[in-house]
Formats: sequence, C-alpha cells, structure tokens
Amino acid sequence: TEASLGALERARPLNIAITELPEQALAVADAADARRKAGEAGAMDGVPIVMKDLFCTEGVLTTAASHILDGFHPTYSATVATKLAEAGAITIAKANLDEFAMGSSNETSHYGPVANPWTRTGGDARLVPGGSSGGSAASVAARVVAGATGTDTGGSIRQPAAFTGIVGMKPTYGRCSRWGIVAFASSLDQAGPMTRSVRDAAIMLGAMAGFDPKDSTSVDRPVPDFAAAMSGDVRGLRVGVPTEYRVEGMPADIEALWQQGIDWLKTAGAEIVEVSLPHTKYALPVYYIVAPAEASSNLARYDGVRYGLRVPGADLTEMYENTRAAGFGHEVQRRIMIGTYVLSAGYYDAYYLQAQKVRTRIAEDFRKAYEQVDVLLTPTTPSAAFAFGEKGDDPIAMYLNDVLTVPASLAGLPAISLPAGLGAEGTPLGLQLIGRPFDEETVFRAAGVLE
Ligand code: GLN
Repeated sequence: TEASLGALERARPLNIAITELPEQALAVADAADARRKAGEAGAMDGVPIVMKDLFCTEGVLTTAASHILDGFHPTYSATVATKLAEAGAITIAKANLDEFAMGSSNETSHYGPVANPWTRTGGDARLVPGGSSGGSAASVAARVVAGATGTDTGGSIRQPAAFTGIVGMKPTYGRCSRWGIVAFASSLDQAGPMTRSVRDAAIMLGAMAGFDPKDSTSVDRPVPDFAAAMSGDVRGLRVGVPTEYRVEGMPADIEALWQQGIDWLKTAGAEIVEVSLPHTKYALPVYYIVAPAEASSNLARYDGVRYGLRVPGADLTEMYENTRAAGFGHEVQRRIMIGTYVLSAGYYDAYYLQAQKVRTRIAEDFRKAYEQVDVLLTPTTPSAAFAFGEKGDDPIAMYLNDVLTVPASLAGLPAISLPAGLGAEGTPLGLQLIGRPFDEETVFRAAGVLE
C-alpha cells in the first residue's frame, strides 16, 4: 500500500485521482495485515486498488467527475465497493472519469483530462486514455495499482483498457450490483474489473460479483470460480468471427492483430467460425438513443435541493435552472437534451420505441450466433488511442469510437478486452471476446489462452 501510494504521487501528472485516500488506505492495510496474521485473508487481502469515482463511498467525496456533485459525501457505499473491501482490497484513491461516465476520452471530466501513460513511437503528443474509466485504466497501466474498478455502459471498461494496454472485463448485465453506483443508463450500466492480467480480472470479478437484493436487476445466481475456469485449454471451443465487425475504414494494424488472435486460437485447437450479426450497424444509433434517454431521466434528480451544488435563483425554478446550467458540462447537457427529445410525446414512438425494438433484434442476432459458437472474437476499438482535442469538438467522431463495444452492452453480454499487441503507432490495441449471458467462464478461458 505504501508503494502504491508512492506511485500514485509520482503519477500525479497523469491526473488519475480526484481524491487520494492515503490515511484511510494505510489504516485498512494495517487491518489487512492483522487478518493475514490471524490466517483470515480474503481473496484480495492487502491488494491496493483504485475506485472509479462513480461508486459511492461512505463518508468519502463522490463526484462522478461533475461539478454538480460538489461536496457530496454519500452516507453509504456501493455494494461492489463494500464487497471489495470485505475481500480485503484497499482503496487508495477515487479515480477520475468522464463526467457521469459520458465520454470515450476522459476529456469531459470537471476535474480535467487524464493522460494515457503511453505515447506514440517518436511522438510526444499526449494521448487520451479512453473513457469513461480513464483514471482507472491509467492507474493500472502506470503500475500504480494491480486493479481498478470500472463501469461500462457502452464500452467504458473495454475501450480504455484497450487504449492503455490492460485487461478490462464487463460482466453480464445483472452479475454485479448497481446499487450505490451513480446511474448513467440503468439498463446498460455494469461494474467490472480493470487489471494487468486476465487472471487478476477473474479474481477481482469474483470479489465484485453476486446477488444483491438492493438492486432489482441483479441476478440471483451463484458466482463461479472464474479463475478456475482458466484451464489453458481451448481445444474444441467454437470461436465466432462476426463479419459485420469488419467496419469500413478499419486500420490495417487492427485487422492484422485480429487475424493474429484468430490464428493463435486456431493453433491452440479452437475452431474458427465466420458468423453474421446482421443488425450490428444499428447498434451505435440505438445506443445513442437509449443511453441518453435513460440518462435524461436519471439526471433529473440533480436539482440543487438534494446532493452537491446549489446556485441560488429568485424562485425554485430559477434555482433549478441556475444549478443545472452551472453544474452540468457540455456533453452531459447534450445527452440530457437528446434524451428528453427522444422521450417527448411527439417523438417517443419514432425514436425511443423504435430503438428498443431494434435493440431486441441485436440481442436476437447474438442469441442465434451462440447456437453455432461459444464465444466471439473481435477488435475492441476501431482505432488506437488518439491525441487530446482530436475528436473533442466532434461528438459524432467520438461516438464512432464505441462502434465495436456497444452491441454487447445492448445485449447485456459479458465481454472482455485484453491487450493484443502494439499497433502501427507503437500504442496498445485490444481484442474483445464476447460470451453468452452469464458465461464469463468461457470468456476467461479463451482470454487466458490469448493473453
Ligand atoms: N463512450 C460511451 C458513451 O459516451 C460509453 C460510456 C460508458 O460506457 N460509460 O456513452
């Protein structure tokens, strides 16, 4: 813990942490030592981690990287945070992120952007770490901690993992409790681990997962021993390669690493099957209707009365307006407007309802594919980490970065991103494995061989 706190301090230029928790971490570390001496060590006893600042932590500032949550100290902790603490993990910091987890580059944070520890070969431009779990990703990539929590609504665990050369696992929707996680899009949000290795992700997910009566969408199923599923053997495993993921303009280095992943699994004895997911091209537009719709509803609670910031006004309505105008950043305001629009009486059928129907088709595509295969292999992103400001002014270019991660989110499927190697610019690229619902074990099994 001391070493991690030292590394966190040295990594300050990356802007990983919104809140550093040295005293609390050292106190917990002492307790972990005592437990170990008493022979009662948990699965993550004494392992320093970083907690995305979207997880409520009792008595500790929780910001969602938004100005509107200024000074918000929750009176309770997220179930996942409590479970990790019970497993012995030591939270050394609350990690920076995109405001309310809306973004793919960590540039929308009220607390400033996070920098990717990687730079391009021969280049000195600062690269984005991806988002929204950018602080979490950078903390693992910069070797500050062995693991960090992330949340993934449309790719926020997997895309930053890919951009920083680490492992990021979004489990099946319902596997981890959402209770106490600041809500973005409730039908999509899932917590998951971000780690250096697949095995660490398996162990950390084991500590995070499990039924929680406080979250009505958490699923009452036993949590398997994910690490034990990593048999090292993929003989006979049927791996699907979805044709539609060969998106137009995919760079040659990403194509090449994808092919290399296919070849590795084939050499290890897996069977490779081309599959079709015909509704893939609708996933991005569907996501950018459903996610803002749910966000506009979830964010209605920030009214200046409860939580954080209040900017006074002549009457209550003006106080709401002033608070929300000052408290939310541009991207969050854009999502609230899009969401309110697609849910409004005249447009609900044309946009929101239609998007929900297409979402069902997308899930159906996956269900059919899994009649033929056990797991799918794709790249995680259509590009490597980009430079700050490169897409910042163009929301569509930014949203396009999520094209390969949102389909699994809409279908609620478990998906992992693992480091695939370095691309043409000398920066990391990720491969994604997508599994059947609640079949994280097969995902880990295949990932362990690919790693
Ligand atoms: N980049 C996507 C978005 O901005 C996904 C974010 C997330 O998964 N939290 O909505």
